[in-house]
Amino acid sequence: MHDGVIAWLRAAAGRVHEQAPTLTALDQAIGDGDHGINLDRGFAAIVAMLDERPAAEDGTGDAAATADLLRAAGKTLISKVGGASGPLYGTAFLRGAGAIAAATDPSAGAAFVAALEAAAGGISALGKSVEGEKTMLDALFPAARAARSALDGGGNLAAVTAAARDAAAAGAEATIPMLATKGRASYLGERSVGHQDPGATTVALLLEAATRSPF
Ligand code: ADP
Ligand code: MG
Repeated sequence: MHDGVIAWLRAAAGRVHEQAPTLTALDQAIGDGDHGINLDRGFAAIVAMLDERPAAEDGTGDAAATADLLRAAGKTLISKVGGASGPLYGTAFLRGAGAIAAATDPSAGAAFVAALEAAAGGISALGKSVEGEKTMLDALFPAARAARSALDGGGNLAAVTAAARDAAAAGAEATIPMLATKGRASYLGERSVGHQDPGATTVALLLEAATRSPF
């Protein structure tokens, strides 16, 4: 998993960079226009962290090394990304790391599902938010549920990540008609309706990148 997660983080950084103008445009419609810049800065800092990071020590198990890596990425996001999304995404990575370290099923598919579930729960706890409020959770919770059912149905890692990707994309699109009740978009009230949530869009982007990196 460890090397696959490095590949995913690097691929995700590339996608976030490419899509930063789109993410910023979405945040200009219902926020303050910094979401693309925020995430791009955070993922560039993750790439810099990866470039500096020594190889995992021999004897460190794969799950432990992967958890350490995700923890370092989460801390980077918390320290480098301003706005609401830095602490929220950072917490998601820290919780995901904890779930992987604690996972009893060592398969990468099971670790991925456990990490998604923990990430969604972590954001929900920190953001005091639930599904239906037009946030990143409207992509992440459906992704975690779809990934769990793919895993329970005997799906391999590719099937599990594809299920998460598809559900996140549908979840992000489903935020368009929603009324925002959390974050800056909630200040707009009814005017938040009719726009896709930037945070949910980023979740879809990150999970799309995950399908390209065999963990
Ligand atoms: P800011 O809103 O501080 O400018 P960003 O623009 O980087 O931060 O991120 C905005 C995104 O953060 C929103 O699109 C939404 O998905 C997410 N968000 C904001 N508040 C919450 C919350 N309480 N719970 C979950 N997600 C939230
Ligand atoms: Mg913003």
